[in-house]
Amino acid sequence: MSNISIPLDVAAAEEHLMRFLSVEGVTGQEKNIGLAVCDALKKIGVPDSAIRFDDVNKRIPLPTETGNLIVDIPGTRPGPRLLFSTHLDTVPLCAGAKPRREGDRIVSDGTTALGGDARTGVALLVVVAETLIKQKLPHPPITLLFTVREESGLHGARELNPADLNGAVMCINVDGQSASDLIVGAVGQENWEVEITGRASHAGVAPEKGISATLVGAMALAEAKRSGWFGKVVKPDGRGTSNIGIFGGKNDKPAGDATNVVTDYAFLKGEARSPEAAFATKIANGYKEAFSKAQSEVTDDKGDTAEVKFSHKPSYPPFELGKDTPIVKRATKALGILGIEPVYVFSNGGLDANWLDKHGVPTITIGAGQAEIHTIKEYVNLKEYEKGCRLGILMATLDD
Ligand SMILES: [Zn+2]
Repeated sequence: MSNISIPLDVAAAEEHLMRFLSVEGVTGQEKNIGLAVCDALKKIGVPDSAIRFDDVNKRIPLPTETGNLIVDIPGTRPGPRLLFSTHLDTVPLCAGAKPRREGDRIVSDGTTALGGDARTGVALLVVVAETLIKQKLPHPPITLLFTVREESGLHGARELNPADLNGAVMCINVDGQSASDLIVGAVGQENWEVEITGRASHAGVAPEKGISATLVGAMALAEAKRSGWFGKVVKPDGRGTSNIGIFGGKNDKPAGDATNVVTDYAFLKGEARSPEAAFATKIANGYKEAFSKAQSEVTDDKGDTAEVKFSHKPSYPPFELGKDTPIVKRATKALGILGIEPVYVFSNGGLDANWLDKHGVPTITIGAGQAEIHTIKEYVNLKEYEKGCRLGILMATLDD
């Protein structure tokens, strides 16, 4: 343990964090926080010419104010280029957050979430740049990446052009809780949806002439459960999870709107996750078969069945880094210097790291004090933030 060798200005690090927490920037509306980061970087001596926004917002299929913010910091010694990444956006529950210090924590006023997810990461990246520049620490070339629309579907990381990362060979993504937790892998996800078109009929006068779309959906879900595809999925050839998220009708309305009409339409939407992309697909196909079985079992008096349109597509790919991957070794070494025992974590949710890894940059995700995220109880643990900052500076400066 030799914190003495890491020249972290704790007060400045907390000031950056307070400032970034106070700038609103919910997912898709990252312009102001992007500009606040540019401002902070210029103040610490990063030249204008090193700072740019890419054009992912033109490719993201949802309104997005700005592209990812990308910053190049030339190396002061040779070495493979390192990428540091985090996301600019917060969940909508963070709108209007008023950060306030309370002992070793930063909290909101209890009416909103806080946005430590991932403003702790945003601040940490600026702290790393500031420390390298002000303390003239030797380091290889570094690129900083601040993504947009992470919270609404990992869009910024997904759509980015890998060439914009300037040949970075490994990445430290900052979007976790404890500094000791090293996220080395995450599941992939497949989304599925189904439209069921049955036939309406008076439920009291002629129920036998109707085909209930709701019944087809309900029987399909029961069948998916019976076949072992619902919830926690454990099969001889793979494991994963799945869920039915939405069971409704057209345009966010309920499926059906009167008790005396056989429901003619239902829309269902769900997901499947697994450490293996192929097994996530297999889970989705399990649902597909269940819907097709239910379709054949619900008929009108002439034997007609409902129309069932089932579709599924990958949402993000899984990944897992081996213990001997250079970025995992680098993080482990840095934690060792800090006297912290690493805990290797496999995440059951997707991260920007899933896409960065897919783009060819092996990515480890570290934590910097976010806690109780996406709730009004969200806070930042300043001790963990400080540890995360030290970890970041060490990872930027370690010999290869
Ligand atoms: Zn996050």
